[in-house]
Amino acid sequence: MMNEPTAALRDAPVLQGLWESVRSGQQQILLSPHLAASYAFLTHVALCSPFLVLDALGSACQRVRSWRIAAGSGPPPSLRQWLECFCRVLFKYATAVLPAAALFQRLRSPNLPELAPSCWQLFVEVVACFLLFDALFFLWHYCMHRVPWLYRTIHQMHHQHRVLFALAAQDASSAELLSLLLLALISAWVLGCHPLSETLFHFLNSWLAVEDHCGYNLPWALHRLLPCMGGSPHHQAHHKKQNINFAPYFIHWDYLFGTYGTSMLHSH
Ligand SMILES: [Zn+2]
Ligand SMILES: [Zn+2]
Repeated sequence: MMNEPTAALRDAPVLQGLWESVRSGQQQILLSPHLAASYAFLTHVALCSPFLVLDALGSACQRVRSWRIAAGSGPPPSLRQWLECFCRVLFKYATAVLPAAALFQRLRSPNLPELAPSCWQLFVEVVACFLLFDALFFLWHYCMHRVPWLYRTIHQMHHQHRVLFALAAQDASSAELLSLLLLALISAWVLGCHPLSETLFHFLNSWLAVEDHCGYNLPWALHRLLPCMGGSPHHQAHHKKQNINFAPYFIHWDYLFGTYGTSMLHSH
């Protein structure tokens, strides 16, 4: 519904040029049913890598240590923990998430429109995706904590770490990884997003999930600019207390459901 050709779309030379070059050269990749899961895994690993550097710098740099969230957060995890976590996530993607997401994408059969979105359309679609995804995630996450069977079989694994680190954002059961990817894909599908908007949404979604778990309250983090977002202190408080802050990014659902909790977690 959102990718109707309009005058605004035809007046988007920057995005149109970008879209045409991507569309003409990468059609096979863009239509591959394996793209969604591969992209989710690769962007996750790529976006985690700056935090591996930050963890390493922390031992030598007081300023980096000052950004670490204090309560509930010990020293950064070792390289060995990072590697073990990487192998676990890779194994789950290869054995479960990739084939199951491919099945979903085959049913969905994405298409590649000729026109690029306007910058405004791109912005609106990405924001709409985040709002819908945030609501769906909140409901699913709330249920996983309220229903003991769901918690034990699907969500408990994600709560295994006392000290959070970026890669732990995807350290979860295969069922949870798949469910979160499907919620993101369904959000973009239901809203009829342009593939460019969807790609940007999945990229930013990976970034915010990584930031939620990174263990740092960074000066440039998005929640410092936008008070409607909780950021890493908000999600770290969820990992510590487990009965508050079920929404991943925004805080309005937790306010409405009475599950909003201040973290009392501050940077050093
Ligand atoms: Zn988490
Ligand atoms: Zn949880």
